[in-house]
Amino acid sequence: AQLDTLDLVVLVALLVGSVAYFTKGSYWAVPKDPYASAATLNGAAKSGKTRDIVEKMEETGKNCVIFYGSQTGTAEDYASRLAKEGSQRFGLKTMVADIEDYDYENLDKFPDDKVAFFVLATYGEGEPTDNAVEFYQFFTGEDVAFESGASPEDKPLSSMKYVAFGLGNNTYEHYNAMVRQVDTALTKLGAQRIGTAGEGDDGAGTMEEDFLSWKEPMWAALSEAMDLQEREAVYEAVFSVVEDDEKSPEEESVYLGEPTASHREGSPKGPFSAHNPYIAPIVESSELFTVKDRNCLHMEISIAGSNLSYQTGDHIAIWPTNAGAEVDRFLEVFGIEGKRHSVINVKGIDVTAKIPIPTPTTYDAAVRYYMEVCAPVSRQFVSSLAPFAPDEESKTEIVRLGNDKDYFHEKVTNQCFTIAQALQSITSKPFTAVPFSLLIEGINKLQPRYYSISSSSLVQKDKISITAVVESVRLPGASHMVKGVTTNYLLALKQKQNGDPSPDPHGLTYSINGPRNKYDGIHVPVHVRHSNFKLPSDPSKPIIMVGPGTGVAPFRGFIQERAALAAKGEKVGTTLLFFGCRKSDEDFIYKDEFKTYQDQMGDSLKIITAFSREGSQKVYVQHRLKENAELVSELLKEKANFYVCGDAANMAREVNLVLGHIIADQRGLPAEKGEEMVKHMRSSGSYQEDVW
Ligand code: FAD
Repeated sequence: AQLDTLDLVVLVALLVGSVAYFTKGSYWAVPKDPYASAATLNGAAKSGKTRDIVEKMEETGKNCVIFYGSQTGTAEDYASRLAKEGSQRFGLKTMVADIEDYDYENLDKFPDDKVAFFVLATYGEGEPTDNAVEFYQFFTGEDVAFESGASPEDKPLSSMKYVAFGLGNNTYEHYNAMVRQVDTALTKLGAQRIGTAGEGDDGAGTMEEDFLSWKEPMWAALSEAMDLQEREAVYEAVFSVVEDDEKSPEEESVYLGEPTASHREGSPKGPFSAHNPYIAPIVESSELFTVKDRNCLHMEISIAGSNLSYQTGDHIAIWPTNAGAEVDRFLEVFGIEGKRHSVINVKGIDVTAKIPIPTPTTYDAAVRYYMEVCAPVSRQFVSSLAPFAPDEESKTEIVRLGNDKDYFHEKVTNQCFTIAQALQSITSKPFTAVPFSLLIEGINKLQPRYYSISSSSLVQKDKISITAVVESVRLPGASHMVKGVTTNYLLALKQKQNGDPSPDPHGLTYSINGPRNKYDGIHVPVHVRHSNFKLPSDPSKPIIMVGPGTGVAPFRGFIQERAALAAKGEKVGTTLLFFGCRKSDEDFIYKDEFKTYQDQMGDSLKIITAFSREGSQKVYVQHRLKENAELVSELLKEKANFYVCGDAANMAREVNLVLGHIIADQRGLPAEKGEEMVKHMRSSGSYQEDVW
């Protein structure tokens, strides 16, 4: 397809900040756009929204819409990448759309010369992401009712071409349920799928490669279906990034790391939420244990006066700051350290482009507070830097990394390199030619991290406890330690608060006082997310909790609550905790505290421990669960709730299996029946997981 200049302008325009990699971790909710209130040029808001996608595409001259159902932002990023590739390689006129921003009742009018993409993450137990709930209900419900009155039997979507990719996690039972069900529903209504319905697996850690290998045959099939001509992709910036030498970074209008405009103006206004964090004082912080390089933090965060509230079992999100050492590295690699405090204005080249960072800001603030610069890096993103390499040799190496999956694995993925480290490993010359827009497009927004609240709201309604292990891991094959972004920041806050001699752990040098010193006096930006992980409303009901390591966090809250109720004279049912760690005298967190609760609760609190490094054989919580089959089974007969918290990949799965066996064995049933009963417990809410 030939393009004229106007087409090009429009093409470039609608691409939203994309992300080139997938960070480890899964589908827990994070703000879709933490800067929604801050972005000065949020086109969608300005242009007066229509909910009619057919009309919108007609008006804006698009022939390809990429809908996303996203919880953590990854599906949104994949959508942006597809949009960009579609326009640059195939001349499609693409737009990215949040699936909740449009109606579905008129999709039977979707024209046959256009295509709709659905990039859909599955959340938790096979559920749609928050923004895709209505869409999901519309298409998978009993009666799909289109505005035109067309009935499902008439194949009302027969003129619609679509492409589908799902983001899932095979450690969950309903793997990629969202894309599978939507695909089935659309096909049933007569829509024509192009290519296969792709499935990315975060559980196996292959999301990025699954995506890359799915999209090539899909593009080939789409080119054929729409008669598209592939051309050499040339980078077209999505944003214009203009330095403003007149403006001082001290001016009040410049974002120096503040999450929203009201924070920047110095008077943060509630309601505080996933889009607007509360700058909370840390009232106390300590280490529950410290062994060599392993630290475990306990923090008390005050929400008094914020109007935030929580309930036992909820999550708190911490908004981190990148380590100074990594900010410096990044700025040096891209040759911008000399102008790090220059003020930049970031604008979408088209009004509908969503800007992922607040503007105006500075390079330093963008990298420190708004961009996930320490995450693992994708092959596609690295290869997009080739045209901007400082010399031919580096360019050749980048092209090789981009084309050779195994080579990339060996040189980058296995080394656990961030983007800056990967480029440093190629050449010591700075990559000064890389447009900053490309970095904004290719690097995710810095994401808040969630923590299971480890206190009871009944006992301390204005103070939230968290229990976090500081991430400092040497992954096999890597030559350096990977330092978790948030937990090392929290460790630095703890060191500062306690006046530790070395306030910067591992030489990471944090800007601990925050933008314009707003976090001084030890504050951290937070928001609270409500969860379904809840104690039974009747405290006399027994509960069984399985929480090794930091998985014990919410159970500390549960036990704190039940102990307080017992102290008030209420009848509290059996409270059984399976806890596991390495050694009883090393990382048995809250050991002394549990003794105090035992005094308050007497026999109703039972703690069964598994220490993996004490005997000749490794003993884990699932082994202890098995050994105590009779007790567990008895409590289940008394209608106990069963809770699991912690490691999703191994422990939670094992526990699920073991429980099935216990039920089957103890009741003399076939193994499948045991499994079925666990499934039933899950759907009825008596088996609850809080896993990550
Ligand atoms: P990140 O920077 O996010 O890094 C995390 C991991 O990603 C690293 O350890 C490493 O394996 C990998 N990684 C990072 N960068 C790279 C790289 N460049 N190359 C290769 N690999 C890399 N944690 C707790 O300690 N306590 C809790 O109570 C708790 N509750 C949670 C509840 C929920 C609902 C969820 C979703 C998570 C919970 N977590 C909890 C986990 C927590 O949210 C964080 O994921 C964890 O603390 C690590 O965050 P971080 O920013 O320090 O590490």
